[in-house]
Amino acid sequence: MSTQTTGITDKLIQRAVKEREARRSGRSRAVAVMVLSALFALGLVLALAVYPGHPDDTSAPRCDGTTMSPSDICDAYVNGALTHSYSYQEMLHRQQAAHPGALVAGIIAMAIAVLLLVPLLRALDPAKPWGTARPGHCPRCRQPNLREKPMTHSETRGRVQRNWSGIVTLCTPGCDFATVRPR
Ligand SMILES: [Zn+2]
Repeated sequence: MSTQTTGITDKLIQRAVKEREARRSGRSRAVAVMVLSALFALGLVLALAVYPGHPDDTSAPRCDGTTMSPSDICDAYVNGALTHSYSYQEMLHRQQAAHPGALVAGIIAMAIAVLLLVPLLRALDPAKPWGTARPGHCPRCRQPNLREKPMTHSETRGRVQRNWSGIVTLCTPGCDFATVRPR
């Protein structure tokens, strides 16, 4: 076994031990709840604040950063080609317009947050042990306490990304026996 392989084995084991600890302490679950709350809040902002637009905003619209006068025309270019010329009134309507896409995106974001909450809380329950039970006895402490889970590790150097994966087997934190086998 080369030194590099040994290093990767250690990294996969460290990852597994960290993940087990994050779950046991409830930290994984707290992070999941925080992320879902943020997603829900983002959906709420999109649906309630972005979607209605500014129907009462009668201030002069801006064209390319410059405030327009009622006689001005605002030219829109795509890839250097003129695609549309907007009048002052048209720009004012665009400024006041609602954004139906924001409503759809907001509802989707809130729905995902709500639908994922219970399955994630259940999957990350601190009372639920890490990985799945592996039959047999630990070669170190001789107890049937082995649990295993596929883990991955990736490293990026320059433009090259290398991925490793293996099934990590861990004994109890008190015994500390750990091993990795290919998937
Ligand atoms: Zn053991």
